[in-house]
Amino acid sequence: MTSTLDTTQARTVRIEGVRTGELASVHSWELVTAVDGPGTRMTLFLAGCPLRCLYCHNPDTMQMRMGRTMSFDDVASRVNRYRPVFTATKGGLTISGGEPLMQPAFVGKLVHWAHERGIHTAIDTSGNLGANASDQLLSELDLVLLDVKSGDEETYQRVTGQRLQPTIDFGERLKKAGVETWIRFVLVPGLTDSEENINNVADIISRWSQVTRVEVLPFHQMGRDKWESLGMRYQLNDVEPPSPEHTEWARNIFRERNLVTY
Ligand code: SF4
Repeated sequence: MTSTLDTTQARTVRIEGVRTGELASVHSWELVTAVDGPGTRMTLFLAGCPLRCLYCHNPDTMQMRMGRTMSFDDVASRVNRYRPVFTATKGGLTISGGEPLMQPAFVGKLVHWAHERGIHTAIDTSGNLGANASDQLLSELDLVLLDVKSGDEETYQRVTGQRLQPTIDFGERLKKAGVETWIRFVLVPGLTDSEENINNVADIISRWSQVTRVEVLPFHQMGRDKWESLGMRYQLNDVEPPSPEHTEWARNIFRERNLVTY
């Protein structure tokens, strides 16, 4: 009985801590170069995501309860250790997931903390929970990596299980707030690679003047084992990664709209 009470109390404390931003459910972090933003980055992966992308290569970040609870001070002191690296490489902090905006109070607090110290800040988000981002957060972010997973509602829902419109709304808000945005689009043969779908994505993002870069990421099978080990049904077993030519063809659809595309 006592241990049940302890568990319930611990859970209540954790939920309250996440609500106020004093605690976070963290999956992991790593130091990366040439991805997730300029320079060398500390990418912090938060646990929890409202989407269920069929191609997700980190399905172990989907559930918030699968993360490890860390205090704000603990995370901030880890970021602090990398400040000399950030300065030397013009890098910074990227908060990814899962979906960072599932824990908006913590993200707002950490971005504010980093911004005050002159650390370059970015979040990597699908935009699905963009409404959770405060105006202050947007004013303190140097970069948003916005994943646009498809260009029409039907395909988007097939890929993610959620609606596209919140991502469009968030992109419009980023435009108004003038937050530099890099777009990410995952090219999955038979799922996201129709010319119509890619044209739709390109049409949406070419309206956004804050977009400075588009990344077309070829689908890969590196997440497959994780799905299996979590006992989750993986639906893309038979999908081959796109060829380099196919990926270039997709990139050219964005380049035709004068979007700088990698
Ligand atoms: S948004 Fe990212 S973390 Fe969430 S399910 Fe999709 S790929 Fe996975």
